[in-house]
Amino acid sequence: MNLDLTDEQRLIRETARDFADREIIPRARDNDRAERFDLELVQRIAEMGYLGAPVAEEYGGRGLDYISYGLVIEEIGRGDSSARTVVSVQTSLVAGSIEQWGTEAQKREILPNLCSGEWLGCFGLTEPGTGSDAASVATRATRKNGGWSISGSKMFISLGNNANVAMIFAQTDPEKKHRGVACFLVPTDRPGFTTQEIHGKLGLRASDTAELALDGVEVSDDEILGAVGDGFKIAMSALDRGRYSVAAGCVGIAQGCVNESVKYAKERRQFDRPIASFQLVQELIAEMVVDTDAARLLVWRAGHLKDRKQPNTLETSIAKYYATEAAVRCANNAIQVHGGYGYIDEYPVERYMRDARVTTLYEGTSQIQKLIIGRHATGINALIPE
Ligand SMILES: Cc1cc2nc3c(=O)[nH]c(=O)nc-3n(C[C@H](O)[C@H](O)[C@H](O)COP(=O)(O)OP(=O)(O)OC[C@H]3O[C@@H](n4cnc5c(N)ncnc54)[C@H](O)[C@@H]3O)c2cc1C
Repeated sequence: MNLDLTDEQRLIRETARDFADREIIPRARDNDRAERFDLELVQRIAEMGYLGAPVAEEYGGRGLDYISYGLVIEEIGRGDSSARTVVSVQTSLVAGSIEQWGTEAQKREILPNLCSGEWLGCFGLTEPGTGSDAASVATRATRKNGGWSISGSKMFISLGNNANVAMIFAQTDPEKKHRGVACFLVPTDRPGFTTQEIHGKLGLRASDTAELALDGVEVSDDEILGAVGDGFKIAMSALDRGRYSVAAGCVGIAQGCVNESVKYAKERRQFDRPIASFQLVQELIAEMVVDTDAARLLVWRAGHLKDRKQPNTLETSIAKYYATEAAVRCANNAIQVHGGYGYIDEYPVERYMRDARVTTLYEGTSQIQKLIIGRHATGINALIPE
């Protein structure tokens, strides 16, 4: 693997960095305080082409390679994880799944709208009673009028209140267990589809989070993604992309912690000297630098494998696990470097801490990543106990 970025990749990173500094960071604190899902910012992100970054150009995307996509996500993640969540969900979970599994008609109808930001999409897997054990979704799809009727509820769904199309994972035949799960592309204006905002989150406060209720929502066979029974495979393939995006966003948080801490430590004086000159403060910073570098290299390795279309579930899990935990550690250290000022939102580090915290929970908790890594190492599947 060549660790040198190409001229084009460097330019993509510089452009994304500049965009994050100019458009995202100036709004981040106010949006966080107001718990505001900033649709105007979403539109700016769309104008940059980031909502379709790795999607093929023929479907309205930018056709970027995965390393470039990771660089864009890193910069947006440094700016604001709520904004990064929009890109991750729209691009990696929703558009990527439709590009991989959709019919030509589904791709032509939906992808250009997602890439342009005309539509938002959401990924409805988690339910009130079903999280890590995603194969056990209780939302039911039953045959009706030559199509399907879906009933159930979905919990913690990012972009759910603003989405035009929802990927809904539902069980078609409980006896078949995960082989009975199907993924439906549900227009959110269908009768029986309602949403409720979830507020009071620790972090990601500027991100739209919803509970979805489906009460006899009717869809046609043309609105199934893949085949009936492919739902679980579709969810897992989406998470392989989504976890990469979350990991890259966490590299951005970690780098943001380094940048902010170095700047603050050189300015802040105690005992007549900048605090950066104290060895114990440098220790905090050095730990952050190492974590950031290691996380970035793991993300690049996963991106390299994705670009070569090689299996990468293990490497993506390792990157997701390491980068998300590293972001939490870095944010904690960054608050320590800032002292009392790190505890208030005059500086971004307390938001980094609150925003980083969810990344070890969603798209597979750290425990689930460890079970994936352990399964590869031992050949024993501890995820599903015998
Ligand atoms: C802000 C936010 C946004 C989200 N966005 C989305 C979204 O867009 N779409 C979506 O579908 N979901 C979304 N989620 C849901 C998220 O993916 C789930 O919360 C996550 O998968 C964990 O599920 P759970 O909360 O039910 O926890 P549980 O599965 O109940 O886990 C609770 C604890 O038990 C542990 N645990 C569970 N099983 C095992 C096991 N076998 N071995 C060891 N430990 C185990 C977990 O690691 C965790 O520590 C979001 C969540 C949040 C908070």
